[in-house]
Amino acid sequence: MVSIEEALKILNDQEIELRTETRDLENSLGYVLAEEISAPFDMPSFDNSAMDGYALCGISMDYQIIGEVAAGDNSKIVLKEGQAVRIFTGAKIPEGATAVIMQEKTKAERDQLRLDQEPKPGQSIRKQGGELHKGQLVFEKNYRITPAGIGMIGALGIQNLKVYSKPKINLITTGNELISPGQDKKEGQIYESNSYALTAAAKKYGFEVSDRLQIEDDFEAIKTEIMKSLEETDVLILSGGISVGDYDFVKQALEENGVVQQFYKVFQKPGKPLYFGRKDEKYVFALPGNPASSLSCFYIYVLPFLQKLSGIKNSGLETYSFPISHSFENRADRPSFLKAKIENGKVEILDGQGSSMIQSMALGNALAFIDAETKLNEGDQIKCYLIS
Ligand code: AMP
Ligand code: MG
Repeated sequence: MVSIEEALKILNDQEIELRTETRDLENSLGYVLAEEISAPFDMPSFDNSAMDGYALCGISMDYQIIGEVAAGDNSKIVLKEGQAVRIFTGAKIPEGATAVIMQEKTKAERDQLRLDQEPKPGQSIRKQGGELHKGQLVFEKNYRITPAGIGMIGALGIQNLKVYSKPKINLITTGNELISPGQDKKEGQIYESNSYALTAAAKKYGFEVSDRLQIEDDFEAIKTEIMKSLEETDVLILSGGISVGDYDFVKQALEENGVVQQFYKVFQKPGKPLYFGRKDEKYVFALPGNPASSLSCFYIYVLPFLQKLSGIKNSGLETYSFPISHSFENRADRPSFLKAKIENGKVEILDGQGSSMIQSMALGNALAFIDAETKLNEGDQIKCYLIS
């Protein structure tokens, strides 16, 4: 048995080889750059208009309009003192222009333009290199690509990126009692829901479960499927069968497949029977079958590890401290992750804390961390892991 901190440290200390791949810009959201990105040219790459209006030469109140430049035009117009061109946002500023004046501040009649006030030199001109100079570092290696990051990289004209690969994930659920939603349920059976919840949680954080399999509590079958799965996946997640019951075969099946235990059992509630093992560059999490336990363990342990494998530095759920809305006593002898709801700046510990109970987790938005045998008064701060 290890403490929560020890388990997290073991995960964090794993020496792993990050793999890289080239991805196109469109499919790189959430990936981590495995290369620096520098500006291949000045941004903007030419002086351009920040407004729809007129580009003017010289400081005056009256100008003669001699033409028009639209966005995308490669106009050769050269303005002389007292001349103006109609110009639109993003259009290249013609040579000789002193400023751009927005159209709302002008009156135009045929080729005569009158301004409401004198322009200021440089006004409404976005200068070449005003945002970035050619060769300037835009993103360091390890930058995690956001939607704005995609916009920036696209604006630099870069289409292919070198990023860290995300791990391939397989999921095996075990249990004789499990049937899939949609099937007719007989007495003694329950619907298998963990694979759905875990796949959805993985997806929410940008991970894809490539293969899902449901098998019975049959030692040989579990052993064979683990073997097959280890051949093709980076991370194998198992659910159920890792506790101490007579039908809990997962641990032994892992051992017989050469998986080396890194920790088994964490001093926490829920999720005590959590297992983590490794075989070379393949990683295995065996999560307890109880739905709330398995999902909690995914959020607290599996997710940060999947992120670490993807090159993400600040991995894990976001955490914040909130004052508790009512006094609360944790009678459990283990530190606990409690289903909770943050609302109006306070956190409420929800009813339905049983490790099989998932409704409270679905209605809540956080896991609140409370030490063993601890009493909290209303207003005491409590650490919350955001799950929505
Ligand atoms: P186990 O960890 O296999 O002892 O299972 C603990 C509890 O979780 C039992 O009540 C199981 O029926 C239930 N359970 C196990 N696997 C699943 C699953 N995939 N979906 C829903 N409930 C499960
Ligand atoms: Mg079971």
